[in-house]
Amino acid sequence: MMRFEGKAVLVTGAATGIGRATALAFAREGAAVMIGDIDDRADETVALILGEGGRAAFRRTDVRKAADLDELVAQCLDRYGRMDAAFNNAGVLPPQRPIHEVTEEELDLAIDVDFKGVFFAMQAEIRHFLSVGGGAIVNTASVGALIADPNMSAYCAMKHAVSGLTKAAAVEYAQQGIRVNAIAPGFVVTPMTQHWADSNAFTDMFFAQNISGRAARPEEIAPTVLHLCSDGASFINGATFTIDGGQTAH
Ligand code: NAD
Repeated sequence: MMRFEGKAVLVTGAATGIGRATALAFAREGAAVMIGDIDDRADETVALILGEGGRAAFRRTDVRKAADLDELVAQCLDRYGRMDAAFNNAGVLPPQRPIHEVTEEELDLAIDVDFKGVFFAMQAEIRHFLSVGGGAIVNTASVGALIADPNMSAYCAMKHAVSGLTKAAAVEYAQQGIRVNAIAPGFVVTPMTQHWADSNAFTDMFFAQNISGRAARPEEIAPTVLHLCSDGASFINGATFTIDGGQTAH
């Protein structure tokens, strides 16, 4: 299937992990991929895509800065002449501590990257989509948008906020042809969570409590993002899609 042939998509946070796997998946289905990330390893993602004969470019982008996201959208339009969908995926997991020990700096990081980064990205993307009659946006939330784990308060609160923001945007722009959805992955092995994957104590506890009995690979998250950005998802709007191997089912 080449659902994105002739289309261009924007992906934030594609230097590693879920974003990289999704950028590759978009390119394999024909999309030109404009990547925004603070980490220069996004160059490696671009090289992987180009190596497979796909189209991709990277612009250094700090999602905490609205101007960077305006520029990223402008670069996508300049380079590819269009932008059909956007995956707002960049995120951070602040150090895990109980609420009474969280520093203001850690709280600000979660607010700035995990919430304001998505908000600023959507503002830039929506301005463009309004000018062309529509588009699709997918935001990365988390199962932390549905349930709470101990010592992850700021992350959990910001992922709840992303899910709420997704609904708010869907409601505001549905009549203008803009669909906005979110994904809520469970435990996915990426640089963000490698420390958990490497800890037998953590994995023994986690896998014993979860019916999946394992963590996901980033490649198991990408297909849902592509579907939500495709015409096949034309009647899906304002939804937060759980991709957790059943973690939150019991
Ligand atoms: P990751 O660390 O591999 O990816 C995060 C990406 O965001 C990196 O490329 C990083 O450079 C980028 N980033 C961080 N701060 C940025 C900034 N200020 N500006 C631009 N880019 C920035 O981890 P991942 O697991 O692939 O995370 C991707 C998304 O998935 C995040 O939003 C994360 O919260 C979410 N998520 C991850 C899991 C999991 O278990 N790994 C579960 C649920 C949700």
